[in-house]
Amino acid sequence: MAGVYTFAAHSEAVEMIIQKFGGTSVGSAQRMHHVAKLIDDGARKVVVLSAMAGTTNALLEIAQALYRKDHGTVENVLSKLQSAYAQTVNELFSTDEVKQAANDALLHHWNHIRAFTLDMFTVFEERTVLAQGELISTMLMQLYLEESGRKSCKINALDFMRIDQQLEPDMWYIESSLKRLLKEHEDTDLFITQGFICRNHFGDIDNLKRGGSDYSASIMGAALKVEEVQIWTDIDGMHNNDPRVVKETRPIERLTFDEAAELAYFGAKILHPTSVLPARKQNIPVVLKSTMAPEKAGTIISNQPSGDFIKAVAAKDGITVVKIKSDRMLLAYGFLRKVFEVFERHKVPIDMITTSEVAVSLTIDKTDNLSSLINELGEYGSVEVDKDQCIVCIVGHLLQENPGDAARIFSALKDIPLRMISYGGSKNNVSIVVDASMKTKALQALNEGLFHLQA
Ligand code: ADP
Ligand code: ASP
Ligand code: MG
Repeated sequence: MAGVYTFAAHSEAVEMIIQKFGGTSVGSAQRMHHVAKLIDDGARKVVVLSAMAGTTNALLEIAQALYRKDHGTVENVLSKLQSAYAQTVNELFSTDEVKQAANDALLHHWNHIRAFTLDMFTVFEERTVLAQGELISTMLMQLYLEESGRKSCKINALDFMRIDQQLEPDMWYIESSLKRLLKEHEDTDLFITQGFICRNHFGDIDNLKRGGSDYSASIMGAALKVEEVQIWTDIDGMHNNDPRVVKETRPIERLTFDEAAELAYFGAKILHPTSVLPARKQNIPVVLKSTMAPEKAGTIISNQPSGDFIKAVAAKDGITVVKIKSDRMLLAYGFLRKVFEVFERHKVPIDMITTSEVAVSLTIDKTDNLSSLINELGEYGSVEVDKDQCIVCIVGHLLQENPGDAARIFSALKDIPLRMISYGGSKNNVSIVVDASMKTKALQALNEGLFHLQA
């Protein structure tokens, strides 16, 4: 657990760790029993829980039905959830008294959701509906820990997690509120709290976007300057390729923060895209572990060198390529600034960019106001849009300085049409855009070409 590896001490380090368990890890009564054992090792810690697997998806379905005022679907999905949780309660607890307490608490959550059928439904209500999953999983875990005689304390993320106007974590508020809450329970070593949920700068319930519990754990770790943030999930660490697409993948022992950030951002679902950033700022190691195989080493992400070689490949779906072609770009200055300003005005982040003397191609994954973006770009040249693209990202250290790495990447991809190539942007990443239909083939080809010899 914490301390398997030794890291430079943080000046304000407290002897504490964060352990985050994802949806599958708490996805059934048996899994909850298992997690309760795993966390019960005497170390002082904050345990961050996701909603039980499938719950957030179901809540999202309910919210979408509430927008449509489709009360039949609301009732249908809700009653399925209710019976699944009734079974969980039966299997999780042993005494009738605690089963009753859990069922009473659950009824409160279901009624809360049902009440939204009577009123207007907006994004505010949607966020409240989505928050119920984590509120329920932590309620159940705390009751189970109490029933089995373990001393623990549930703290409510809505009392300390807050994002500011820019949707960034309000670190000052989080740090002071979380420390105050822990101080109120100085005799407790085991704290349980919710991932994903927070309040925004209006004080309303909000969230850190899908998969955001990893981010919650990293933010809390940075706020408390803990020794280590552990992300427990259903796989034994960050693998060198997407295990959902490629068969022969294997866990990576070590990654730098930069490498992990690139992988998370470019599609390695095991980590929420921005989850490494708060831990990296405070130089707190992040360890990825498997709940199902806790004896396995997993992946350790830190500022320690991880070796100068290609570590992994990931793919980000849902990419749109926008090309702006103009003779006015030729030998002109200020052209790119004007183009970027259009993206800025539309609040559309750009992932990748390649240029030639007369054209620039950019990738985006936010397309809600695409037509207005394209209209405005049209003032600067002819615009072409390719939808259904995919960024394949090859991550490692010193990629550009290792002779032969680029040759190996491109010879692996020799049979695949490449739409864009970005090389040299950082020492950690080569990114390539391919048509979405080529994704599987590209990931498999890179697996063969880059990792088979290292096996
Ligand atoms: P949790 O519910 O614990 O947050 P997630 O489903 O969000 O878990 O993330 C774990 C999943 O990420 C794995 O089951 C795996 O299918 C997927 N995944 C995608 N890319 C990778 C990768 N490079 N390494 C490991 N897992 C990956
Ligand atoms: N429950 C949320 C989701 O499914 C957050 C998380 O699991 O990280 O997206
Ligand atoms: Mg996740």
